[in-house]
Amino acid sequence: MSEQYDVIVIGGGVAGLSTAANITEGNVLLLEKDRIRTEEKRYLRFTFMDSVERLGISECIIRRYDTISFQASANRLDVEYNDFEFGLIDLGKLHRKLMKYILKKNEIKEKWVVVDVKNRNKMIEVKISHDDTIEKILTRYLVDASGTSFLTKKIFNLPHPDFICHCCEATFSGGYIGDPHTITFIEPSTRFKFGGSLYPYDKGDYSFGLTNNLDFFNLSLKSFEKKIMKEKNDLGLSDKIEGGDICVSNIDLVPLGSQYSLIFDGVCYVGDTVGQVTPWMIEGVRPCLDASIMCANAINAALKQQEKSLLERYKKGWDSTYGVVYNKVNLAEKWNRTNEEWNNSLKRMMKLSKMSKKLFLRYLKYDQMSEDAIERLMELKTSLDK
Ligand SMILES: Cc1cc2nc3c(=O)[nH]c(=O)nc-3n(C[C@H](O)[C@H](O)[C@H](O)COP(=O)(O)OP(=O)(O)OC[C@H]3O[C@@H](n4cnc5c(N)ncnc54)[C@H](O)[C@@H]3O)c2cc1C
Repeated sequence: MSEQYDVIVIGGGVAGLSTAANITEGNVLLLEKDRIRTEEKRYLRFTFMDSVERLGISECIIRRYDTISFQASANRLDVEYNDFEFGLIDLGKLHRKLMKYILKKNEIKEKWVVVDVKNRNKMIEVKISHDDTIEKILTRYLVDASGTSFLTKKIFNLPHPDFICHCCEATFSGGYIGDPHTITFIEPSTRFKFGGSLYPYDKGDYSFGLTNNLDFFNLSLKSFEKKIMKEKNDLGLSDKIEGGDICVSNIDLVPLGSQYSLIFDGVCYVGDTVGQVTPWMIEGVRPCLDASIMCANAINAALKQQEKSLLERYKKGWDSTYGVVYNKVNLAEKWNRTNEEWNNSLKRMMKLSKMSKKLFLRYLKYDQMSEDAIERLMELKTSLDK
């Protein structure tokens, strides 16, 4: 390990790996406190196919769906697409692919924990620890992609994402699959306040992500897991799954949609650490990948032209795609809806789906919406909320 780098990236999740892979200028070191998660089919996430194709990572898709179905307690909306709009991405495979890119030119250190960061004469000093060894290294720019540890936000006392919800990943093994081409999004029911996505990923297996939106700060992860296990049969899934057993594989926190401090004093924030997750679908992979490319491009420009202020391009890029929508929608308010509002939201979806398929998809995706489209959505929301 050398003592000085142009860029240090903290975190070997999809945000950190993709940022490091897209930095083409200077020398880069990526630090991951554990092992990078590369296990095949262990970390499956649904995503939108157009982005996958645009980003050239189609080989990481292990399944495609051509129908989506929304389900609230009493209503249901099926939207069919002829082209595959949704796919299941194998994050382990994507991580491996990104690691390969990085290692062509740069360094990855696993099992090294970043423990402190300080500004020192136009450079950033990063203190790292491995077993009993502590080292200090310098860098021109730092990328914090440390996810929900919010590492440098804590160190610099910056605001964290406003809203954090619990997310659980469960697998139903051996159950009967209703329709293997359909991905279902379930809105929190009035009784359980859980929402989630359900998708078949293998013969006889369903994967199910569940989110608890409302009790966010009051519920420990342990009690969340307990609640899920207890309520699994009552979540409106019985028409989709018959038999099978549930296995909870991963429970974690997901921060949603904050717009604070994407850049602070030579440090760029990417991914979960700044809540770059879409509020409706708790979808983080695509926004993480998009943000990481914007961030890497800004760092490339700053390094090439030796001009720190060019980092601002990252914030501008984000604001002109996702940011404008994330900013307009008051997220905490949106997630803290009453029971009636939850039920009304499906009706809103139905109305939207009739407006235009394109707008409906953009509503789900929160990206590249025109001001005009946002205004129409806001008007629709106001009229339905009355
Ligand atoms: C259960 C669950 C289901 C989900 N389902 C979907 C889905 O279906 N579709 C979708 O698009 N999104 C989904 N998401 C969201 C998506 O997975 C995340 O938004 C995305 O993976 C975040 O990536 P990241 O790189 O920002 O963070 P992470 O993957 O958390 O990576 C952060 C990394 O930083 C490392 N790190 C932390 N602190 C330090 C330190 N001090 N030093 C060194 N390294 C450090 C951590 O070990 C970790 O590897 C889901 C999330 C969860 C929890």
